[in-house]
Amino acid sequence: MNEHNEQRRILIAGGAGFLGAHLCRRMLNEGHRVICLDNYCTGSPDKVADLAGRDGFTLIRHDIVEPLPPGLDPTHIYNLACPASPVHYQRDPIQTLRSCVVGGYHLLELARRSQARILQASTSEVYGNPKTHPQHESYHGHVNPVGLRSCYDEGKRCAETLFADYSRAHGVQVKIARIFNTYGPGMSVGDGRVISNLITQALAGRPLTIYGDGNQTRSFCYVDDMIEGLVRLMDSVDTFMGPVNLGNTSEIAVIEVAQRILELTGREEEFEFVPLPPDDPALRCPDTTLAKSHLDWFPAVPLDEGLRHTIAYFSELVGHEQALARA
Ligand code: NAD
Ligand code: UDP
Repeated sequence: MNEHNEQRRILIAGGAGFLGAHLCRRMLNEGHRVICLDNYCTGSPDKVADLAGRDGFTLIRHDIVEPLPPGLDPTHIYNLACPASPVHYQRDPIQTLRSCVVGGYHLLELARRSQARILQASTSEVYGNPKTHPQHESYHGHVNPVGLRSCYDEGKRCAETLFADYSRAHGVQVKIARIFNTYGPGMSVGDGRVISNLITQALAGRPLTIYGDGNQTRSFCYVDDMIEGLVRLMDSVDTFMGPVNLGNTSEIAVIEVAQRILELTGREEEFEFVPLPPDDPALRCPDTTLAKSHLDWFPAVPLDEGLRHTIAYFSELVGHEQALARA
């Protein structure tokens, strides 16, 4: 429960994904009722298996592109329903775009009817390949509208517009988080994003795949910090919609992350350089001044510590899968 001791009915769309499962667990542990809605395109009921059967937890298989099931009456909605890894969101780009826009519309209509607060998980990708650095929320981005990443980048941009218009036109309590690269325990082995790829490769004794020369930068935020930021944003004052950047400000080149992972896993250096995918942003680092001033939020977990937790998680997962394969 929160400080007002109220039990919330929280709908988490995309709740069986990486961030969603952490959020479901946290909300349930705080005493709220949680409805997890997911079509399992990148998530899985396994991610929330520990919550199944717990009082107050409901899991519904549903695609938010379709009209929502009847009877939902949430007080709060988190919209995390969209594949986040480039390999997954590019596999069915039209579905990705529809998830962002049509799915967002269905959730906003529900928020309007139920007078629920709604938080949209947007992304640093709305900045595209940025021309300013670090990226402040006032920067409007540099995005290719017709490229391979556009279904995600433009889908999330259009969703931000829709959310802002629902706030203005219908007075819906909207919150928009621009999430920067987040990693941690709970990611899938086949997720395809850089941290999970490099760790699983290091643990399997394979060369680490570096796209391009590895000098492109990202800023990696540990999952617990991100969940804290999302919760604070949901609970922020009525007048604050954002968009607000949530992410870590320590920027690092991809090749350096790979070197850290090699060190932490005790592996010798072995890289496989492959061509950089089109429109892969060269730089990415959030300006988090707004999150500090409005949410009193800043990430607390340093990269090495977060990587250690993530390596331990993947070691157990990979070991478990190998044992199953041998059985
Ligand atoms: P994820 O792929 O692990 O989780 C997304 C979840 O949404 C999955 O469970 C998937 O099955 C579900 N889903 C997708 N389309 C759906 C649909 N149409 N209907 C119902 N469920 C659907 O990704 P994640 O890392 O947990 O990301 C969660 C959200 O945060 C996404 O919206 C993503 O765009 C955003 N985000 C994440 C990051 C990050 O680094 N993790 C960065 C920026 C933005
Ligand atoms: N990348 C890499 N090796 C991999 C996966 C990704 O070098 O095995 C690079 C990718 O080209 C990008 C960065 O790592 O520059 C982050 O990629 P990710 O897919 O995690 O997220 P993005 O920020 O691109 O959405």
